[in-house]
Amino acid sequence: MKKYVITLSTICISLLVFFQCSLGNRQGILLGTYRKVVLVGSSEKIEASIPVAQNLFWYSSDASTVHVSPSGVIKGISSGSAVIHVRTENSGYKASCHVTVVTAIPRNIILFIGDGMGPEQVKAAGMFKNGVSGSLIFETLDYTNTMTTYSASSGITDSAASATAMATGNKVNNGVISTAIPGDSSELETVLELLKQKGKSTGLVTTTHITNATPACFGAHEYHRSNYDEIAVDYVNGSKPNVLFGGGGFGISDTMTDSVGYHTVTNKTAFESIDPSVYDYVSALFGTDNLPYMYDYPEPDAYPEPELSEMTQKALAILKQDPDGFFLLVEGGRIDHACHSNDLICAIYETIEFEDAVTSALQWMSGRNDTVLIVTADHETGGLTVIKNNGAGNLPDVTWSTGYHTGVEVPIYASGCDENIIFGDFDNTHIYYTISDFFE
Ligand SMILES: [Zn+2]
Repeated sequence: MKKYVITLSTICISLLVFFQCSLGNRQGILLGTYRKVVLVGSSEKIEASIPVAQNLFWYSSDASTVHVSPSGVIKGISSGSAVIHVRTENSGYKASCHVTVVTAIPRNIILFIGDGMGPEQVKAAGMFKNGVSGSLIFETLDYTNTMTTYSASSGITDSAASATAMATGNKVNNGVISTAIPGDSSELETVLELLKQKGKSTGLVTTTHITNATPACFGAHEYHRSNYDEIAVDYVNGSKPNVLFGGGGFGISDTMTDSVGYHTVTNKTAFESIDPSVYDYVSALFGTDNLPYMYDYPEPDAYPEPELSEMTQKALAILKQDPDGFFLLVEGGRIDHACHSNDLICAIYETIEFEDAVTSALQWMSGRNDTVLIVTADHETGGLTVIKNNGAGNLPDVTWSTGYHTGVEVPIYASGCDENIIFGDFDNTHIYYTISDFFE
């Protein structure tokens, strides 16, 4: 079955006008929900089912019922171009719009998460590196937006709840790893697991220890982020990503990944010599904690472990061997740690290395049209505000308001897909829907 992404701008404009006129506050539901439409090439009639806005019904131009998911996936249309009508339960047809195919389904998804990387962290790094804000490579991606990050238990999320939201589309309590809490405590399927089921290879890459909260939410299910031993077991016996690169320790070890068939390395030399075409499963576990800060090794090539950009390159070289495509998560995990200490220079160095990793992915994507790249953050850390740009090579003047996280909306950047991939009011749960909708 072929699947297409179609432009929703026409739909949004017509629905916005319509709902402003007739349904008042429902406008927010639609804008927050139907931000993207995916056409599925099927002529089968499917009953209307609209979980979020229960009293809306959608019809295609031939009057057959179509199905619209909470995130805007439409099924039941036989061609790549159609007129879609929407009506309420009681009042007949109310609006219609024309939709056309623009982009094919992607093969590969690359998701970058800068842990703690709020808008001011990005701004400060651009000023320090290039003398001007807005100048980091990921700020030049095709589409940008901001997104909300609150969790089920707090307006201020931690990395576990935010990564769970992005990985599963569900709001959970702070500290929870892709498990329905609040709720029935069931395991919430992650986007990594979903795409693995679709036959794709998968990878987790981070500068923290690999069992830390952000990668864990994509490949594990635990009541709490501190259950490192159990998270490691979930990796090797459960989700089993093809690529596991990051710090070791905290529940995971080389003997553990070795025993389930990973080609395992634990130092930079062995890492560099990995032939990516030989192995289906590769784990690289450096030390027994987080990787060192970039700022502690400012001289070129002095960094004792592979840098995030090098890990990203190696992961892509391995994952691209799969003709079915891949899902790769890359986390710049220590921006957050530096910001907890209100350590600006350290945060900037980590952000610039994160940018280098995105550059590696963009270079790999060059000339391809089958890969979606999303760059975002899980939350802001430190309450950073830039006061004054002091030019390239100089720290900007800043203030910090806290040693913890804040509820500031974080930036999101995307390329390789239709513009509606990140559209309108955006929440971190929409990362999951944005990706999973391609593959429903
Ligand atoms: Zn933090």
